[in-house]
Amino acid sequence: MCKQAPNIYDLNLSELQSIFASLGQPAYRASQLWQGLYQQLWATPEEFTTFSKPQRQTLSKYVHFGTLSPKQTLQSKDGHTIKTLFKLADNNTIETVLMSYQTRRTLCISTQVGCPIGCAFCATGQMGFIRNLSCGEIIEQAIHFARHLKAKDEKLTNIVIMGMGEPFLNYDATMEAIDILNHPLGFNFGERRFTISTVGIIPMVEKFARQKRQVNLAISLHAADDDLRSTLIPLNKKYPIQDLMQVCEDYIRITGRRISFEWALIQNLNDTPQQAKLLAGRLKNMLCHVNIIQLNPIKGYPFKGSDRERTEAFCQELRRNHIHCTVRLRRGIDINAGCGQLASQSIKAQPNQPML
Ligand code: SF4
Repeated sequence: MCKQAPNIYDLNLSELQSIFASLGQPAYRASQLWQGLYQQLWATPEEFTTFSKPQRQTLSKYVHFGTLSPKQTLQSKDGHTIKTLFKLADNNTIETVLMSYQTRRTLCISTQVGCPIGCAFCATGQMGFIRNLSCGEIIEQAIHFARHLKAKDEKLTNIVIMGMGEPFLNYDATMEAIDILNHPLGFNFGERRFTISTVGIIPMVEKFARQKRQVNLAISLHAADDDLRSTLIPLNKKYPIQDLMQVCEDYIRITGRRISFEWALIQNLNDTPQQAKLLAGRLKNMLCHVNIIQLNPIKGYPFKGSDRERTEAFCQELRRNHIHCTVRLRRGIDINAGCGQLASQSIKAQPNQPML
């Protein structure tokens, strides 16, 4: 194995074609490899029986066939949620969660090890930031679970980029991963089946709008005034709500696409009638939807998710103001399925890096 050999999942089809050209091989060989990786979901060189044995040996000298290894997998008691902790080549860990509900198989993937945003209610935020994931490390999470589902004759239906990390601070690798997974000759996972979630890095939301992708955009809002939001999401001090709302309006105007606003409902904190009214005012006449989820309990965070009555009252207030909202089911509480709860136990806390 060549010491500098890249991870095969970091390469797009034209980069693979270049490698084959440098080996004196025709371009269709790269397409065969691509199909083996993303259609057959083959994991090791030995499985690539479309290549001769000497060709497979040559190939395995030039590329690594993946760098993620599952370290721990937990399944919720109801069987609907599976969470896997992956070890990366540098021994860091990330986590990925598969949620199965009726016909949907939704995968929540990570884009960073840790996260520099430091949201008060998030286990990943409490870990600090360690590094960005490469495009290949993002892709491998999806491919691992696609293989898992294939064994049961099932397929992923949706990918939400809402796991560890802020994807808009690892923008290029995240978009490259989407492009590779979307490639029609390979995994062919439609852009509209991806949802990317951000706390609202305004310049990156603007960039995302200009690119006019079909990927769904979710904004983690969680509070409707700057004072409360800044205590929950420190980055709000840099990108206050009024500016964020303006960029959301611009996004809708440019793309014609609806935005989802995420709201982790926290008992007696952001579930008050005042917050609901303020939120309804901010979203008035906007092409949007509010996804409400009662906060998962987080070790070391004193607040808990709102009870059913407060959740219902909050939604009623939004609906009274003609704001569409859905209460999402909390999943996998018994396996710490909330973002970063497993990895934070396996990674020593690090101070936030000055990345913003
Ligand atoms: S909620 Fe998202 S952005 Fe905030 S700290 Fe956690 S991973 Fe980072």
